[in-house]
Amino acid sequence: MVTTVQSSNTIAFPTSKTHSGRERTDVIRVEQYAELRLQLSNILQTTLELPQVLQLFFNEMQRSLGIDSLTYRNNKRTSNVELGISARHNCHYNLVTNKDSLGEVKFSRSKRFSEKELQLLEMLVGCLICPIRNSLMYREAVQSALRDPLTGSGNRMALEKTLEREVALAKRHNQALSVLVVDIDKFKAINDNYGHTAGDYVLKDVAQILSQCCRETDAAYRAYRFGGEEFVLILNHTEAHGSTVVAERIRQYIENMTTTFEDNSLSVTVSVGAASLVDEDDMTTLFSRADKALYQAKHEGRNRVVMIKG
Ligand code: GH3
Ligand code: MG
Ligand code: MG
Repeated sequence: MVTTVQSSNTIAFPTSKTHSGRERTDVIRVEQYAELRLQLSNILQTTLELPQVLQLFFNEMQRSLGIDSLTYRNNKRTSNVELGISARHNCHYNLVTNKDSLGEVKFSRSKRFSEKELQLLEMLVGCLICPIRNSLMYREAVQSALRDPLTGSGNRMALEKTLEREVALAKRHNQALSVLVVDIDKFKAINDNYGHTAGDYVLKDVAQILSQCCRETDAAYRAYRFGGEEFVLILNHTEAHGSTVVAERIRQYIENMTTTFEDNSLSVTVSVGAASLVDEDDMTTLFSRADKALYQAKHEGRNRVVMIKG
């Protein structure tokens, strides 16, 4: 039986030879477990990104136990990861600390697991708990720095980061991209007539409709709160005509929406400025054209969509 500690970022799993001469990992002395766990923990500590933590763990399990796939699910936090190709035999573990459920990890393999292998796997899965908890906490901290606390939309910082990335991607791949700037009409009157708390409820409802009106995107947020009662939508893969269709749908939904606050039914309308990316654009010119379109929509009487072509 050989145990070697390598300086590279992989673990040397202790192996022994079977009668047929094949190496096997299922005969490991108890004292070697601690060493293995230490090596694995050191590897997992090298990142705070959840997909990377799982990838590192998967690499080690692939190498040592011939695992074909690893699936991680955490429905509460919608952070699901799938690695490898699913096979016939599987086993799964719930990852729990005394305070919190951290999700479920499932492994599959074409060859049936032996009792010893399951014991080893279970022991190594224990090494995942702290790194996963740290990754989830890190992700939460990053997300809350980018989230508007009132509406749950992305905040201005998130908007800037995402818009910059989306403009670069659209230009690189020659894809359509549009931006909508949505501003609630005469919103000050809601606050003046019904109070600030009523205004907050309206803002939340508007934000929810904006998120629902966008198709799925890879970005963490669908709508961004740019200022007090002003929101921005980034529509990737959407050209000028498509963006005005989305904008008009939003305008109509909000016009028909009512927010119930105490005994009042509150209604608002929105004005929308739209712009689509052209070759000469950068993030600033694209955004300012949408903003100018919004200004025009206000000027023309509000509750309408205006697109300014580039
Ligand atoms: P317009 O149609 O020209 O956009 O008129 P408006 O009244 O919507 O625009 P104005 O800029 O005059 O007023 C915006 C109002 O939004 C004033 C401000 O008190 C309110 N506001 C900004 N942030 C918040 C917030 O977080 N909660 C509430 N309740 N009100 C807010
Ligand atoms: Mg307004
Ligand atoms: Mg405004």
